[in-house]
Amino acid sequence: MGTNGTAGGQGAKPARGIGRRAVLIGGAVTAVGTAALARDELRRVWWRMPGVRKPRRPGELDFAAARWVAASEANWRMADRPGDYGIDRVVIHVTQGSFRSAVRVFQDPAHGAAAHYVVGQDGRVAQMIRELDVAFHAGNRSYNERSVGIEHEGFVDRPQDLTPEMYASSARLTAAICERYGIPVDREHIIGHVEVPGTDHTDPGPHWDWDRYLKLVRAVEPGPSKPAEGASS
Ligand SMILES: [Zn+2]
Repeated sequence: MGTNGTAGGQGAKPARGIGRRAVLIGGAVTAVGTAALARDELRRVWWRMPGVRKPRRPGELDFAAARWVAASEANWRMADRPGDYGIDRVVIHVTQGSFRSAVRVFQDPAHGAAAHYVVGQDGRVAQMIRELDVAFHAGNRSYNERSVGIEHEGFVDRPQDLTPEMYASSARLTAAICERYGIPVDREHIIGHVEVPGTDHTDPGPHWDWDRYLKLVRAVEPGPSKPAEGASS
């Protein structure tokens, strides 16, 4: 389950002992630090200006097999990944609850956390946040910025909750993410929430079968848009 992403200092400007100056961007005057942080910060500030965001269509998906259910905007931060932050991790969670309850709390602005995806025990997938954006799911600012978060329906102490349908569906999702961003399929890059530095969360728990999961991810055929063999053209 996600922890409160704001604990990691979301949105806080780095405090550095350098001069500040007014910079004119798109008609809005914004005070930003100069020198080392200027280039990075400017790029991020730029995307927050009205009218210069990348075009986005409501309901647009990064994973075609998912259904779009928007998370509350309070539970993520707009970004332009992988342009502004590289993506090199997939973080696996178990929700400690039902699919429905996970979707509901991610829609709740008071929750302060949400993952990009929720996978159900029947294999259904909801995408709630675009991969472009930073979801507050890992409880660690830099891990939020560099990762895609996937929640799985169930409880960490109930091995029967981790169904074959859920593993298979999640593996297809993770394979697509790894292919999209060139992420190696290994335990250094596909990690549990428990492995995020500083976390006090234990998910996905001792029953999550990592060997089985990575085998399934590796077995997924690359190229999701490739037509099935024998399909008429
Ligand atoms: Zn978690």
